[in-house]
Amino acid sequence: MQQQRQELCVIGDRVQMQHNGDGSGSIVQIYPRDRALSRVEPGGFSGTQAERQQVIVANLDQTIFVFAAANPAPHPRMLDRFLVVAEKAEIPSIHIAVNKVDLITPEAVHHIFDPYARIGYAVHYVSAQSGEGLTELADLLHDQLSVLTGPSGVGKSSLLNQIQPDLGRAVGRVSEATTKGRHTTVYSELIPVAGGGYVADTPGIRSIAPWDVEPTELDAYFIEFKPYIPHCRYKDCMHSDEPGCALRAAVEAGQVSRARYESYLKLQAELNELYIY
Ligand code: GDP
Ligand code: ZN
Repeated sequence: MQQQRQELCVIGDRVQMQHNGDGSGSIVQIYPRDRALSRVEPGGFSGTQAERQQVIVANLDQTIFVFAAANPAPHPRMLDRFLVVAEKAEIPSIHIAVNKVDLITPEAVHHIFDPYARIGYAVHYVSAQSGEGLTELADLLHDQLSVLTGPSGVGKSSLLNQIQPDLGRAVGRVSEATTKGRHTTVYSELIPVAGGGYVADTPGIRSIAPWDVEPTELDAYFIEFKPYIPHCRYKDCMHSDEPGCALRAAVEAGQVSRARYESYLKLQAELNELYIY
């Protein structure tokens, strides 16, 4: 039997501690997790999913996905992947922060991100440079266990440092280089937010990808597809070229964003390649 790589206890777990009397403590009990954000290493499935699954943070309250309005240009397809992972993990609260709004016109940036607000995600327009939206972002972190992630260079550390000087390191880039290998240990910690709450510093978050999503369940994680799926002619419709696909009709009618639908198709093709039935 292959060795299970599940850690006993990860950041975010609630535990009972016993003081040892010498300033140290021991964990005597780990309470059940409400939820866990894990990553599964890519490379094809053969039913041994559990062995390669690694929990990176437990009991997460929210994720904040950070992108830049410009420099680097927004990457909606990467955002769509993050959203699938967060939906699959049943993260209660999912936010998108669009930084560097000082660099382009509001119209241009709203054009890209408003569709996400329309389907129900909280989109925050911010600038570490001008200070816009930072109070709102700080409020968001209050009393929550948060993970903040996004491509490098979008200003994650700048934003967090504006809120609280030591928070900038909570963006998971510390051991980015070492998380690529298969058997690396992911060192994580929780950084306290003044006044309550934590931001998780989890290098592993950089490599989360929806590898453990089966192609047939993918449509459930594109939340705005939900109303259309029951109306497809075939129950097991994959919404690619089947006749009578209600989702495709909704895309044609402009009710569902074509870009999101294309993200779905692209991801589905990738998952189909990975998944061995
Ligand atoms: P990270 O890799 O996501 O942590 O990004 P950094 O915080 O290191 O920022 C990357 C670059 O973007 C730095 O040169 C920052 O000065 C710049 N930057 C960060 N936030 C803003 C912003 O709101 N506006 C502008 N114009 N530049 C920013
Ligand atoms: Zn369909």
